[in-house]
Amino acid sequence: MSKGGVFVVSGPSGSGKDTVLKGLFAENPDILFSISSITRAMRPGEREGEKYNFISREHFEEMIKNDLLLEHNVFVGNYYGTPRIPVEKAVSEGRDIIIEVDVNGAAQIRKKLPEAVTVFIMPPSFAELKRRLVGRGTESEELIEKRLRSALDEIRRAEEYDYIIVNDDAAAASQSLMSVIKACRLKTERQKNIINEVLEKC
Ligand code: ADP
Ligand code: 5GP
Repeated sequence: MSKGGVFVVSGPSGSGKDTVLKGLFAENPDILFSISSITRAMRPGEREGEKYNFISREHFEEMIKNDLLLEHNVFVGNYYGTPRIPVEKAVSEGRDIIIEVDVNGAAQIRKKLPEAVTVFIMPPSFAELKRRLVGRGTESEELIEKRLRSALDEIRRAEEYDYIIVNDDAAAASQSLMSVIKACRLKTERQKNIINEVLEKC
Protein backbone atom coordinates (compact mmCIF):
# COMPACT_ATOMS: atom_id res chain seq x y z
CA MET A 1 0.00 0.00 0.00
CA SER A 2 1.32 3.49 -0.78
CA LYS A 3 1.76 5.92 2.08
CA GLY A 4 -0.78 8.66 2.84
CA GLY A 5 0.07 12.33 2.37
CA VAL A 6 0.73 14.89 5.09
CA PHE A 7 -0.69 18.35 4.33
CA VAL A 8 0.36 21.19 6.58
CA VAL A 9 -1.99 24.19 6.61
CA SER A 10 -0.97 27.51 8.19
CA GLY A 11 -2.10 31.11 8.03
CA PRO A 12 -2.60 33.95 10.45
CA SER A 13 -5.34 33.63 13.05
CA GLY A 14 -8.52 34.92 11.36
CA SER A 15 -7.37 34.18 7.80
CA GLY A 16 -10.12 31.56 7.58
CA LYS A 17 -8.29 28.24 8.00
CA ASP A 18 -11.15 26.66 9.97
CA THR A 19 -13.75 27.89 7.52
CA VAL A 20 -11.78 26.62 4.52
CA LEU A 21 -11.09 23.26 6.20
CA LYS A 22 -14.75 22.81 7.21
CA GLY A 23 -15.73 23.25 3.55
CA LEU A 24 -13.11 20.71 2.49
CA PHE A 25 -14.07 18.07 5.09
CA ALA A 26 -17.78 18.46 4.32
CA GLU A 27 -17.06 17.34 0.75
CA ASN A 28 -14.18 14.95 1.49
CA PRO A 29 -14.84 12.99 4.69
CA ASP A 30 -12.10 10.48 3.79
CA ILE A 31 -9.41 13.03 4.68
CA LEU A 32 -8.23 12.99 8.31
CA PHE A 33 -7.55 15.98 10.55
CA SER A 34 -4.81 16.02 13.16
CA ILE A 35 -6.32 17.04 16.51
CA SER A 36 -3.84 19.28 18.34
CA SER A 37 -3.22 19.28 22.07
CA ILE A 38 -3.35 22.84 23.41
CA THR A 39 -3.31 24.67 26.75
CA ARG A 40 -5.41 27.75 25.89
CA ALA A 41 -8.92 28.15 27.30
CA MET A 42 -11.81 26.77 25.28
CA ARG A 43 -13.69 29.38 23.22
CA PRO A 44 -17.48 29.51 23.10
CA GLY A 45 -18.61 27.06 20.44
CA GLU A 46 -15.48 24.88 20.67
CA ARG A 47 -15.81 21.25 21.74
CA GLU A 48 -13.25 18.94 23.35
CA GLY A 49 -11.76 16.54 20.82
CA GLU A 50 -13.20 18.24 17.72
CA LYS A 51 -10.28 20.39 16.62
CA TYR A 52 -8.33 20.45 19.86
CA ASN A 53 -7.73 18.44 23.02
CA PHE A 54 -7.66 21.04 25.79
CA ILE A 55 -5.04 19.91 28.33
CA SER A 56 -3.10 21.37 31.29
CA ARG A 57 0.43 22.77 30.98
CA GLU A 58 1.67 19.89 33.16
CA HIS A 59 0.09 17.32 30.83
CA PHE A 60 1.56 19.13 27.79
CA GLU A 61 5.06 19.20 29.28
CA GLU A 62 4.73 15.49 30.04
CA MET A 63 3.92 14.89 26.34
CA ILE A 64 7.06 16.82 25.31
CA LYS A 65 9.16 14.79 27.75
CA ASN A 66 7.78 11.49 26.43
CA ASP A 67 8.42 12.47 22.79
CA LEU A 68 4.71 12.24 21.96
CA LEU A 69 4.65 15.42 19.84
CA LEU A 70 5.65 15.77 16.19
CA GLU A 71 6.06 19.50 16.79
CA HIS A 72 5.04 22.10 19.35
CA ASN A 73 5.13 25.82 19.86
CA VAL A 74 4.06 28.60 22.19
CA PHE A 75 1.54 30.95 20.57
CA VAL A 76 0.34 34.08 22.44
CA GLY A 77 1.29 32.47 25.77
CA ASN A 78 -0.17 28.97 25.25
CA TYR A 79 1.28 25.65 24.14
CA TYR A 80 0.04 24.11 20.88
CA GLY A 81 1.29 20.72 19.65
CA THR A 82 0.67 17.94 17.13
CA PRO A 83 0.46 14.42 18.60
CA ARG A 84 2.92 12.26 16.66
CA ILE A 85 1.25 8.81 16.70
CA PRO A 86 -2.04 9.63 14.86
CA VAL A 87 -0.03 11.22 12.02
CA GLU A 88 2.28 8.21 11.70
CA LYS A 89 -0.73 5.86 11.77
CA ALA A 90 -2.56 7.79 9.01
CA VAL A 91 0.52 7.80 6.77
CA SER A 92 1.18 4.08 7.24
CA GLU A 93 -2.48 3.28 6.50
CA GLY A 94 -2.37 5.26 3.24
CA ARG A 95 -4.71 8.00 4.54
CA ASP A 96 -4.24 11.70 3.81
CA ILE A 97 -4.06 13.88 6.91
CA ILE A 98 -4.21 17.65 7.36
CA ILE A 99 -2.22 19.28 10.16
CA GLU A 100 -3.06 22.88 11.04
CA VAL A 101 -0.09 24.58 12.68
CA ASP A 102 1.53 28.01 12.92
CA VAL A 103 4.66 28.87 10.90
CA ASN A 104 7.05 27.58 13.57
CA GLY A 105 5.22 24.27 13.75
CA ALA A 106 5.33 24.00 9.96
CA ALA A 107 9.11 24.56 9.98
CA GLN A 108 9.53 21.73 12.52
CA ILE A 109 7.38 19.37 10.44
CA ARG A 110 9.33 20.20 7.25
CA LYS A 111 12.53 19.08 9.00
CA LYS A 112 11.04 15.82 10.29
CA LEU A 113 8.86 15.01 7.27
CA PRO A 114 10.40 16.63 4.18
CA GLU A 115 7.74 14.99 1.99
CA ALA A 116 4.95 16.98 3.74
CA VAL A 117 3.15 19.44 1.46
CA THR A 118 2.72 22.89 2.99
CA VAL A 119 -0.07 25.36 2.23
CA PHE A 120 -0.46 28.93 3.48
CA ILE A 121 -3.97 30.39 3.74
CA MET A 122 -3.58 34.12 3.02
CA PRO A 123 -6.20 36.77 3.84
CA PRO A 124 -7.02 39.03 0.84
CA SER A 125 -5.62 42.03 2.82
CA PHE A 126 -4.47 42.96 6.31
CA ALA A 127 -7.54 45.19 6.76
CA GLU A 128 -9.81 42.23 5.93
CA LEU A 129 -7.88 40.02 8.39
CA LYS A 130 -8.53 42.57 11.14
CA ARG A 131 -12.23 42.79 10.16
CA ARG A 132 -12.55 39.00 10.33
CA LEU A 133 -10.79 38.70 13.71
CA VAL A 134 -12.93 41.48 15.21
CA GLY A 135 -16.07 40.08 13.52
CA ARG A 136 -15.44 36.57 14.89
CA GLY A 137 -15.80 38.10 18.35
CA THR A 138 -13.93 35.33 20.18
CA GLU A 139 -11.02 37.36 21.59
CA SER A 140 -10.54 40.51 23.67
CA GLU A 141 -9.19 43.67 22.01
CA GLU A 142 -5.77 43.01 23.62
CA LEU A 143 -5.62 39.44 22.29
CA ILE A 144 -6.70 40.60 18.82
CA GLU A 145 -3.79 43.12 18.82
CA LYS A 146 -1.34 40.33 19.81
CA ARG A 147 -2.72 38.03 17.08
CA LEU A 148 -2.42 40.82 14.48
CA ARG A 149 1.21 41.44 15.43
CA SER A 150 1.89 37.73 15.11
CA ALA A 151 0.06 37.76 11.74
CA LEU A 152 2.63 40.16 10.25
CA ASP A 153 5.49 37.78 11.14
CA GLU A 154 3.54 34.82 9.76
CA ILE A 155 2.72 36.54 6.44
CA ARG A 156 6.42 37.46 6.03
CA ARG A 157 7.19 33.72 6.20
CA ALA A 158 4.56 32.65 3.65
CA GLU A 159 7.29 32.17 1.05
CA GLU A 160 8.54 29.11 2.96
CA TYR A 161 5.35 27.28 1.84
CA ASP A 162 4.80 25.13 -1.26
CA TYR A 163 1.44 26.78 -2.01
CA ILE A 164 -0.38 30.00 -1.12
CA ILE A 165 -4.18 30.08 -1.28
CA VAL A 166 -5.85 33.48 -0.93
CA ASN A 167 -9.06 33.06 1.07
CA ASP A 168 -11.25 35.63 -0.63
CA ASP A 169 -14.14 33.31 -1.39
CA ALA A 170 -14.11 30.49 1.20
CA ALA A 171 -15.71 27.86 -1.07
CA ALA A 172 -13.19 28.59 -3.83
CA ALA A 173 -10.34 28.37 -1.31
CA SER A 174 -11.59 24.94 -0.13
CA GLN A 175 -11.64 23.80 -3.77
CA SER A 176 -8.08 25.10 -4.30
CA LEU A 177 -6.86 23.19 -1.26
CA MET A 178 -8.56 20.05 -2.56
CA SER A 179 -6.84 20.58 -5.93
CA VAL A 180 -3.46 20.52 -4.16
CA ILE A 181 -4.39 17.26 -2.40
CA LYS A 182 -5.70 15.70 -5.62
CA ALA A 183 -2.51 16.62 -7.49
CA CYS A 184 -0.41 14.95 -4.77
CA ARG A 185 -2.53 11.81 -5.01
CA LEU A 186 -1.58 11.62 -8.71
CA LYS A 187 2.17 11.65 -8.01
CA THR A 188 3.99 8.63 -9.40
CA GLU A 189 5.37 7.66 -6.00
CA ARG A 190 1.79 7.20 -4.75
CA GLN A 191 0.81 5.12 -7.77
CA LYS A 192 3.65 2.63 -8.09
CA ASN A 193 1.17 -0.22 -7.56
CA ILE A 194 -0.71 0.56 -10.74
CA ILE A 195 2.43 0.07 -12.85
CA ASN A 196 2.87 -3.50 -11.58
CA GLU A 197 -0.87 -4.24 -11.70
CA VAL A 198 -1.08 -3.33 -15.39
CA LEU A 199 2.15 -5.16 -16.25
CA GLU A 200 1.09 -8.30 -14.36
CA LYS A 201 -2.08 -8.58 -16.44
CA CYS A 202 -0.46 -8.06 -19.86
P1 ADP B 1 -8.85 30.90 11.45
O1 ADP B 1 -9.25 29.47 11.60
O2 ADP B 1 -7.79 31.09 10.41
O3 ADP B 1 -8.50 31.58 12.74
P2 ADP B 1 -11.71 31.34 10.91
O4 ADP B 1 -12.06 30.26 9.95
O5 ADP B 1 -12.16 31.25 12.33
O6 ADP B 1 -10.13 31.69 10.86
O7 ADP B 1 -12.28 32.70 10.26
C1 ADP B 1 -12.20 33.97 10.96
C2 ADP B 1 -13.51 34.73 10.69
O8 ADP B 1 -13.56 35.10 9.30
C3 ADP B 1 -14.76 33.91 10.97
O9 ADP B 1 -15.73 34.73 11.56
C4 ADP B 1 -15.20 33.42 9.57
O10 ADP B 1 -16.59 33.24 9.50
C5 ADP B 1 -14.72 34.58 8.67
N1 ADP B 1 -14.32 34.15 7.31
C6 ADP B 1 -13.57 33.06 6.98
N2 ADP B 1 -13.39 33.00 5.63
C7 ADP B 1 -14.05 34.07 5.11
C8 ADP B 1 -14.24 34.56 3.77
N3 ADP B 1 -13.70 33.96 2.71
N4 ADP B 1 -14.95 35.69 3.60
C9 ADP B 1 -15.49 36.33 4.68
N5 ADP B 1 -15.36 35.93 5.97
C10 ADP B 1 -14.64 34.81 6.19
P1 5GP C 1 -6.18 29.44 17.69
O1 5GP C 1 -5.91 29.78 19.13
O2 5GP C 1 -6.67 30.64 16.90
O3 5GP C 1 -7.09 28.24 17.53
O4 5GP C 1 -4.79 29.03 17.02
C1 5GP C 1 -3.69 29.90 17.11
C2 5GP C 1 -2.58 29.46 16.19
O5 5GP C 1 -2.10 28.17 16.58
C3 5GP C 1 -3.01 29.33 14.72
O6 5GP C 1 -1.98 29.92 13.93
C4 5GP C 1 -3.07 27.84 14.51
O7 5GP C 1 -2.79 27.47 13.19
C5 5GP C 1 -1.96 27.37 15.42
N1 5GP C 1 -2.05 25.97 15.81
C6 5GP C 1 -3.15 25.19 15.96
N2 5GP C 1 -2.79 23.94 16.31
C7 5GP C 1 -1.44 23.92 16.38
C8 5GP C 1 -0.47 22.90 16.67
O8 5GP C 1 -0.77 21.74 16.95
N3 5GP C 1 0.83 23.28 16.64
C9 5GP C 1 1.23 24.54 16.34
N4 5GP C 1 2.54 24.78 16.30
N5 5GP C 1 0.36 25.52 16.05
C10 5GP C 1 -0.97 25.22 16.07
